[in-house]
Amino acid sequence: QRTDYVAFCDRIIDRFEMSKKQNIQFVRKLPEGTFYVQVDRDKLTQVIDNILSNAMKYSPEGGLITFRVIRKGQKIRTMISDQGVGIPKENLAKVFNRFYRVDRARSRKLGGTGLGLAIAKEMIEAQGGDIWAESEWNRGTTIHFILPLDREEV
Ligand code: ATP
Ligand code: MG
Repeated sequence: QRTDYVAFCDRIIDRFEMSKKQNIQFVRKLPEGTFYVQVDRDKLTQVIDNILSNAMKYSPEGGLITFRVIRKGQKIRTMISDQGVGIPKENLAKVFNRFYRVDRARSRKLGGTGLGLAIAKEMIEAQGGDIWAESEWNRGTTIHFILPLDREEV
């Protein structure tokens, strides 16, 4: 489906803002103008929902979650950052593996199956994109993903 990407992200963040129960602030850094991606909207919603719920799960009281979108040429980069516990460097790539969870004790308490990011990776790669994590222990995590701009606009 041809999708106005910034409007699509705005609606997802709106939904998170309305339903949040924690003391967390969302910061939007979205570009001006309209551009389109060709995606399965339900699947991409699932991907972003998981990244945002991870960010919330691991955020401290009063934390900021920054949602940033940058268009560069034919590619759109999305970055979702939190100020949470972070992921140790040696585990950064593994969080995209099925059922992988960083700290069993911590993760058990917070719930989840360890599938969210594995599904995100499959979905983003199926759309011709790329996804990776960047993190500093105890400072926060940023999930980056790239999606191609819709061909009709190239
Ligand atoms: P599910 O998404 O299936 O409910 P989950 O959230 O544990 O379960 P993933 O979303 O795949 O699974 O994340 C895998 C693991 O990566 C998490 O268990 C957590 O240890 C780590 N992780 C993911 N996002 C963050 C984050 N923003 N901050 C700290 N750790 C994270
Ligand atoms: Mg998750």
